[in-house]
Amino acid sequence: MDENCIFCKIINRELPSSIVYEDENVLVFKNIEPQAPIHLLVIPKKHMRNVLEADEETISKLFIVTNKIAKEQGIDKDGFRVLTNCGKNAGQTIDHLHFHILAGTKLEEKMI
Ligand code: 5GP
Ligand code: ZN
Repeated sequence: MDENCIFCKIINRELPSSIVYEDENVLVFKNIEPQAPIHLLVIPKKHMRNVLEADEETISKLFIVTNKIAKEQGIDKDGFRVLTNCGKNAGQTIDHLHFHILAGTKLEEKMI
């Protein structure tokens, strides 16, 4: 728990969010400013800044939950995008590791 972290506060219910999935290690909730019809954030409950600080087990759990949620949300058929920003040049604004899941429309072309 990082006391100044918005996502830690969401995990601890100190801030409201629209939660779509929760287990012992992972929380999934709706992005407050969605960039697509479906825009979810998948986060570990343990605070870590980004992928550089993440251990294998955490990364694995985030992807396992991402897979499960994609099927539950019915976005597995038409497709979706998973992305994670890491650091300043990527525009990371919240320093708590998160995967974005974007879906529900044809997404804009990839940057690379
Ligand atoms: P980043 O730019 O760090 O990859 O993405 C952070 C994301 O968190 C942004 O897309 C932003 O809309 C979302 N976000 C920021 N604050 C909150 C919040 O308080 N609640 C929710 N649900 N999402 C947030
Ligand atoms: Zn945090």
